[in-house]
Amino acid sequence: MTFRATVLTLYPEMFPGHLQYSLSGKALERGDWSLEAVQIRDFAADRHRTVDDTPAGGGAGMVLKPDILAAAIDAAAPEGDTRPKLLMSPRGRPLTQTRVRELADGEGCLIVCGRFEGVDQRVIEARGLEEVSIGDYVLSGGEPAALTLLDALVRILPGVMGNALSGVHESFEGDLLEHPHYTRPQAFEDRDIPAVLTSGNHAAIEKWRREQAEELTRTRRPDLWQRYLRNRS
Ligand code: SAH
Repeated sequence: MTFRATVLTLYPEMFPGHLQYSLSGKALERGDWSLEAVQIRDFAADRHRTVDDTPAGGGAGMVLKPDILAAAIDAAAPEGDTRPKLLMSPRGRPLTQTRVRELADGEGCLIVCGRFEGVDQRVIEARGLEEVSIGDYVLSGGEPAALTLLDALVRILPGVMGNALSGVHESFEGDLLEHPHYTRPQAFEDRDIPAVLTSGNHAAIEKWRREQAEELTRTRRPDLWQRYLRNRS
């Protein structure tokens, strides 16, 4: 099954962006997923193709008009299209690997990229847009956020990553950050690869990696660590 992504944006030329390279790019060429970037401006009816207007109640900046955006959404996802409709937004629920996995298990998604001060609240409600944030900072537009979401999503689609196993032991899977990695040379400056990793003792290696992952999570991410402890007990 092909995962179908549709992105609504004022800058369709920003897509597929970095996703045309490396494994996601090869998967796109193979048709493991598809990407359509729709120009919101094409749905503006007036001579100047206006997509934004001043905020009701006053204040700085401009707001994306609900009628134009709704027309673009309805054209890109006609009735019967059951894909989740997302709006990249700093007010949204912070994106997690769990949500990424849920989306990747589905048939695709529609992603609206905001610009300016954001979008009219009524279109969010009327079209049931799920607001998704990629972190507690403000970007100038939703495009890099959409590319980030798609990057996380596409890499776990079936067949995209060569070694399927490398998706399993990673950071956030099972609420732990990943253990450190090493490769040759055996000695780098005055640092050696930890001896256990070259011991050939797989049980000891597993144990060491788990301890490292736990220690990293405990010290760097107390929030994840608490969740890990809760889920383990
Ligand atoms: N005035 C808004 C910010 C608008 S930023 C506020 O304070 O909430 C312009 C657009 O960039 C947003 O509509 C959204 O689509 C995108 N954006 C900015 N920061 C983001 C984030 N952390 N996650 C996802 N999208 C973001």
